[in-house]
Amino acid sequence: MHVSPGSLRPNVARLRERPNAEVLVIGGGINGIATFRDLALQGVDVALVERGDFVSGASSASSHMIHGGIRYLENGEFRLVQESVAERNRLLRTAPHYVRPLETTIPIFSTFSGLLSAPFRLLVTHGRGKPRERGAALIKMGLVMYDTFSRDGGQVPRHRFLGKKKSLSELPAMNDGIKYTATYYDASMHDPERLALDVLHDGELAGGDRARAANYVSGAGMQGGKVTLRDETTGEDFDFTAKVVLNTSGPWTDITNSALGEQTRYMGGTKGSHVVLDHPELLAATAGREIFFEHSDGRIVLIYPLKGRVLVGTTDIDADPSQPVVCTDDEVDYFFDLVGHVFPEITVDRSHIVYSFSGIRPLPHHDDTAPGFVSRDYRIVQSDTLGVPVLSLVGGKWTTFRALAEHLANDTLALLGKQRSVSTETRQIGGGVGFPASPNARKRWITEHADGRDAGRVESLLDRYGTRAVEILEALPEHDPELTDLPGYSAAELSYLAHSEQIVHLDDLLLRRTSIAFVGGLTVQRISAAAGAIADALGWDEATQTSEIERTIALLRNAHRIDTTKGGTFITG
Ligand SMILES: Cc1cc2nc3c(=O)[nH]c(=O)nc-3n(C[C@H](O)[C@H](O)[C@H](O)COP(=O)(O)OP(=O)(O)OC[C@H]3O[C@@H](n4cnc5c(N)ncnc54)[C@H](O)[C@@H]3O)c2cc1C
Repeated sequence: MHVSPGSLRPNVARLRERPNAEVLVIGGGINGIATFRDLALQGVDVALVERGDFVSGASSASSHMIHGGIRYLENGEFRLVQESVAERNRLLRTAPHYVRPLETTIPIFSTFSGLLSAPFRLLVTHGRGKPRERGAALIKMGLVMYDTFSRDGGQVPRHRFLGKKKSLSELPAMNDGIKYTATYYDASMHDPERLALDVLHDGELAGGDRARAANYVSGAGMQGGKVTLRDETTGEDFDFTAKVVLNTSGPWTDITNSALGEQTRYMGGTKGSHVVLDHPELLAATAGREIFFEHSDGRIVLIYPLKGRVLVGTTDIDADPSQPVVCTDDEVDYFFDLVGHVFPEITVDRSHIVYSFSGIRPLPHHDDTAPGFVSRDYRIVQSDTLGVPVLSLVGGKWTTFRALAEHLANDTLALLGKQRSVSTETRQIGGGVGFPASPNARKRWITEHADGRDAGRVESLLDRYGTRAVEILEALPEHDPELTDLPGYSAAELSYLAHSEQIVHLDDLLLRRTSIAFVGGLTVQRISAAAGAIADALGWDEATQTSEIERTIALLRNAHRIDTTKGGTFITG
């Protein structure tokens, strides 16, 4: 443990020095973080604690889609679809540095139904039992309906329906058994973790001393109306008081309530996995689109270009949040099977996997409803049995985080007897402020900020951090060589992140402050180079560096099935 006794992390020290706030948020996934930002903007004194790293739960396991949720139409969840598309359209404007339009194509194998049909089960309203097959006619109806929710006054293009010949001319590697393709627009989120950090940073800036957030601090118990917080790096407990407690622990909401002293059964999460493939042929076959395919038994696969790799997911399996989750061989076989249906001539095997990840969706408790049909909508439940009102969040996707935070903040404001003073609807997020959207504006931005630096380097910082790249540029020395083992990154850049973004462990840097792990090829040598780059900033001695390197190697092996001792290959068997 590199935090020596008595040398508190500054953000933990700020909580301990003044152990009270109007609101305590327990859980630093996107929904807790967004609520923290919203309350800070209203001038509420708010504190947030996250037991691991920020955004290390469900929020780091998503399919990276900001989507209207066309599939939710089949469950009759019109409110959710409407809210999701409105939020998607807002995020395209408020976070253009990380959220971009995503052309999505559904291959359709039958007009009405058939062996490989059923890309959609639209218009099934009962939402229970086994998924049914649906062919082109119903998909068409669903997309017409989706267009009416989704088009944002014409900013988002209408869907297109193409016959076999035209479809294959656009996507020649696709299974020539298709009859049609349907193409519509949603949005992708390139860097979910960085987007969440931007939201957190905005909250901290807005609130100053009245908006405090610390990672590696858990909500561990409650006594006499005081919450016991535990610094997970030292094991030390301290009391914290708040007028309102928000439980935004995602899939762990019941477990947190239990620790606070109340037994609840709100959650019924399902597990989903993804693999990241380094596969140029498959990447080219997607033609930059998400391919969204649903098998006749209702199973879905997304094939999706991201950061020069191909993201393939996902599954939907009931899961116990008290246990760790990992992508299994069955899931990998399932992905490859469905990729094989869509692109039969392209060979995909385990040697192409450079990263894998799994997470649990924070879904509401469900009895006999099939996992794919469980509502993706959210609700807020208040409990008054613990001496302080505790609001538990049940559910909540990435896409709707702003609207959800607004609801949760409004409920909290009502309990505090306060009014909303600031709307987040059109508020630009972090490095999305002043983000140059057009190619020309982008060129101008790079020239203006290059200040003698290589334009390529400035551009890559703009891609990574949006206009917050300015903060990094100011911190970089004139001579800023890239690290031999981590091309594209310099020691000064990584060190800046370590200083300014509450990095506690090496994996915080490799998995969540950067995409280094995601794109693959992580070897022990590269991990060691990263540790060396941030060691001074974090005061790590040799022994600490070694233990951090070992921790990262074990985490990649156990949670992501990547063997960094063998060139970052996927562990088979
Ligand atoms: C496989 C998969 C694919 C998905 N794809 C998409 C998608 O494409 N688009 C989309 O919109 N949504 C998607 N989602 C859903 C979305 O990712 C989640 O619903 C969302 O991220 C939930 O955020 P959250 O903040 O509520 O929960 P979480 O991100 O899980 O955050 C809860 C946090 O609470 C912390 N915590 C738990 N207990 C305590 C405690 N006692 N003290 C302090 N902290 C605690 C946890 O460490 C965790 O970080 C997907 C989810 C999964 C799993």
